[in-house]
Amino acid sequence: MTLTPEQQAEIAEARATSRSTLRATSEGMEKHLYTAHEVLDHGLVRVIDYMGDDAAITQAARVSYGRGTKAVQNDEGLIRYLMRHWHSTPFEMCEVKFHVKLPVFVARQWIRHRTANVNEYSARYSILDREFYIPAPEHLAAQSTVNNQGRGELLEGEEAARVLDILRDDAMRSYDHYEDMLSQEGQKGLARELARMNLPANVYTQWYWKVDLHNLFHFLRLRADAHAQYEIRAYAETMCGIVRDWVPLAYGAFEDYRLGGVTLSGKAIEVLKRRLKGESVTQENSGMSKGEWREFEGVWR
Ligand SMILES: Cc1cc2nc3c(=O)[nH]c(=O)nc-3n(C[C@H](O)[C@H](O)[C@H](O)COP(=O)(O)OP(=O)(O)OC[C@H]3O[C@@H](n4cnc5c(N)ncnc54)[C@H](O)[C@@H]3O)c2cc1C
Repeated sequence: MTLTPEQQAEIAEARATSRSTLRATSEGMEKHLYTAHEVLDHGLVRVIDYMGDDAAITQAARVSYGRGTKAVQNDEGLIRYLMRHWHSTPFEMCEVKFHVKLPVFVARQWIRHRTANVNEYSARYSILDREFYIPAPEHLAAQSTVNNQGRGELLEGEEAARVLDILRDDAMRSYDHYEDMLSQEGQKGLARELARMNLPANVYTQWYWKVDLHNLFHFLRLRADAHAQYEIRAYAETMCGIVRDWVPLAYGAFEDYRLGGVTLSGKAIEVLKRRLKGESVTQENSGMSKGEWREFEGVWR
């Protein structure tokens, strides 16, 4: 269970208190407000606040492009046009603030996305909880033999059990030592800012993460992708579901052009033209490297 009964009561209370506003709201996002979505074994994502909706994007576009947008009358067409042509600033008019609970090794990947505002739980000020990410058996895989940055076959049987035992034992032992070292309840001990340093990277941390929709789409494009590590992908996919409900038109365009689309190089377009003319093109006579060719062929499979 990710949330304590007190936290659940807090969320229920927040959701029971409604206020009237003149600001635009999104019906789909109101459903998600404050609600915790569980991710991994102890993690969560929930929306704390948001600004804007699909209409905020088209409104901003119409202000900035004025008469130029007259040709595209409907909101969906305009949003798709903006996405297709990388007119990104109208998407920056929408913002969202998430509360995320995540293992430290996932946080290290996440924090590389610099175009967001972050406030993290302070392990100098407060004591971390005894919560560690332990992969579910279906995610306990060996190193890939073809991809240095990926996973291969699943561990099974005794090997899987042995690895899980090591992960659990190490986590518990280091937390016991963390507690032993801490100065708490009046006893002398080590400062929290130092005692935390022996905790492994699968310990959970928490933060508030505020980002605009353009940069959120960039994050989701990279982290909901099959190349991203499963653990951060699990968060990104949960967030995709939330964004779909928040701004359905913008998400639809993002799903089509960014998640579902590919960028073709000049060489790739040449190969396609030659093939359409009936020519047999292989990697050797394509002008592409083996890696480029593999990715190009992968698009059509
Ligand atoms: C599958 C995968 C594997 C990865 N592997 C590694 C790895 O092995 N090692 C590693 O170190 N990282 C790795 N990364 C992290 C990656 O290199 C990026 O740091 C991360 O994805 C953040 O992307 P970003 O900089 O575009 O995002 P953001 O920081 O959110 O920036 C968004 C955009 O803003 C602009 N921008 C932001 N800050 C600046 C700046 N200071 N100067 C110029 N432009 C800026 C850029 O256009 C940028 O694309 C990996 C990422 C993925 C998705």
